[in-house]
Amino acid sequence: MRIQTLRERLRALGARPAHEQRVLRLWAQAQPQDRGRRRLEDFMPSTLREALPALSAELDGLARLQSEHPGEDGSARLLVTLSDGQAVESVLLPRDGLCVSTQLGCAVGCVFCMTGREGLLRQLGSAEIVAQVALARRLRPVKKVVFMGMGEPAHNLDNVLEAIDLLGTEGNIGHKNLVFSTVGDPRAFERLPQGRVKPALALSLHTTRADLREQLLPRAPRFSPEALVEAGEHYARLTGYPVQYQWTLLEGINDGPDELAGIVRLLKGKYGVLNMIPYNSVPDLPYRRPSWERAVEIARQLHRQGVLTKLRQSAGQDVDGGCGQLRARSQPAEQP
Ligand code: SF4
Repeated sequence: MRIQTLRERLRALGARPAHEQRVLRLWAQAQPQDRGRRRLEDFMPSTLREALPALSAELDGLARLQSEHPGEDGSARLLVTLSDGQAVESVLLPRDGLCVSTQLGCAVGCVFCMTGREGLLRQLGSAEIVAQVALARRLRPVKKVVFMGMGEPAHNLDNVLEAIDLLGTEGNIGHKNLVFSTVGDPRAFERLPQGRVKPALALSLHTTRADLREQLLPRAPRFSPEALVEAGEHYARLTGYPVQYQWTLLEGINDGPDELAGIVRLLKGKYGVLNMIPYNSVPDLPYRRPSWERAVEIARQLHRQGVLTKLRQSAGQDVDGGCGQLRARSQPAEQP
């Protein structure tokens, strides 16, 4: 379901702008109905009032909790069932963050990613994206939403931008606490500055070598690392939020001195931060994570050379549920 369709249905039931805003706000913020004597609902047209319980049940059915997998770091991976029975993953992050999925599967096909192995199965509607937030808010507060779960947000741009707009208005999430993550897509760079809610930007860099990037992200748009950083810098200066450059650290592939020199060349002096995340090994894939000591040393070297670098663990690593693994395990019949 699209949020726009939901708005049209509300209007067809007689909702005025304040009513529409009220229904969307209660849903996106997962707030209970008011119990006071003068509830706005009591002043709504009867057609709308009578339709609300069924509508609310329908919205609840867009994302239901199938299972929760708490990690030792305060995160929890959620397997979420959509209304057609398909499952996606959301991750409750420490410090009131939530990572949501935007597609079922993904067409980019990053060679180290479980989700990418499935290819794209279907897009998530904007309401299904917001429904993951509403579901998570019933479990704990959510003040930051990152679009880094299953899928490439730029490949489902209309739905993701619609969800961002609602979360940044009725959803009570600060605009810089909405993080649009992409491998780099010209359509995203064109559309993001046009929205009334401008999210922060995360760019998946992973390597400074164009040839290696083509191998690691085989179906990503052919952006050179230089062009990607240039586009990111432009957006960062426009919004005033630093870009988060994402780097999945793969042992023996992108952790050598040539890459460190490339990072310094590309990112020194830029308005951004490099998030280095040692790879979360997946049993069926040949990639390995470097030791934590090696990762710490890399981050130190980059710091010394003027690149702001944050070394992060992938959330819920001990859960053995890197992006796409929970879904893969829950649907063994679909595996080749
Ligand atoms: Fe898609 Fe992200 Fe996986 Fe790449 S890492 S295949 S963009 S879900």
